[in-house]
Amino acid sequence: MDSLEEIKKNALNSIEKAADEEALKLLKIEYLGRSGNLTMILRGLKDMPEAERRVMGALANALRQELEGAFQNGEKNLGAIAKTAHFKQEKIDISLPGAKIPVGHLHPLTKIKKEVEEIFISLGFEVVEGPEMEREHYAFDALNMPKDHPAREMWDTLWLEPLKDRMLLRPQTSSVQIRYMEKHEPPFRIIAPGRVFRYEATDVSHDIQFHQVEGLVVGEDISVANLKHITLSFFRKLFGKDSQIRLRPSFFPFVEPGFEVDISCAQCQGRGCSVCKSSGWLEVMGAGMVHPNVFKAVGYNPKLWRGFAFGVGLDRLAMTKYKIPDIRFFSENDIRFLRQF
Ligand SMILES: [Zn+2]
Repeated sequence: MDSLEEIKKNALNSIEKAADEEALKLLKIEYLGRSGNLTMILRGLKDMPEAERRVMGALANALRQELEGAFQNGEKNLGAIAKTAHFKQEKIDISLPGAKIPVGHLHPLTKIKKEVEEIFISLGFEVVEGPEMEREHYAFDALNMPKDHPAREMWDTLWLEPLKDRMLLRPQTSSVQIRYMEKHEPPFRIIAPGRVFRYEATDVSHDIQFHQVEGLVVGEDISVANLKHITLSFFRKLFGKDSQIRLRPSFFPFVEPGFEVDISCAQCQGRGCSVCKSSGWLEVMGAGMVHPNVFKAVGYNPKLWRGFAFGVGLDRLAMTKYKIPDIRFFSENDIRFLRQF
């Protein structure tokens, strides 16, 4: 059996050299366990003569306490080392780019609205807005559509309760033009972008709500030539410099003469395809010279002022530009659709 001195020397030496907490645990069993070296000595004390037993017992117990303390220290140190090693493994490379936070983007209709606004601002226009809930006066009466005028049937209107106030959801943004003219004197150039509403069945090209941009230019010498120039400039900026337009006679109560403005099909360069139904043209805009009755309704002298107005569907422009087959996609909020823009 080893002497106490030897046990002490070996034990302290081994504790110091222990590589990890597991090794230390095994050492503790070896020295202080039930059949450990020191335990065996303590157990053997009872066979010793009394005098020797007293001295050995005191020494052995002192050693036991010393070793217990040494093991405790060893455990503490190895624990700290293990922690540091873990942090060392988990190195932080500050030169790496940070984790990206997903950000959203603008709705395709908002994008086309901004683009259209920027083009018209570059052509000297001012952007104005008006209410979506509108009075019958601004939506119809002042636009040369008296109460029983059959032209009102061109718009399937959503009326608001109670009916006695004759409030409605605006069927076009022309109402904004009336509101603007009541408060301003010509000459001016404005566009009024906004949401409009119709009471009708939906399909790939019709929805109960869509978006329009209406334009109005009023001055002393305004003619169809100005109308043609402005609309052509607009479409060339939006769809490319090769775009062509054509004017066809049409009827809108608030203009005279009135036109449908078609643009050359960008898909087939006017040769004819399925998008333009083989005609080479796409119907995108209504326009015309402002009717004298509209000027009278806002207190302008129709002999002094002339103007042209036009209206274009933002949804239709976005569908043409981004090749979207169904107008209802804009309001369905399907993330698979929206992510494409
Ligand atoms: Zn085509």
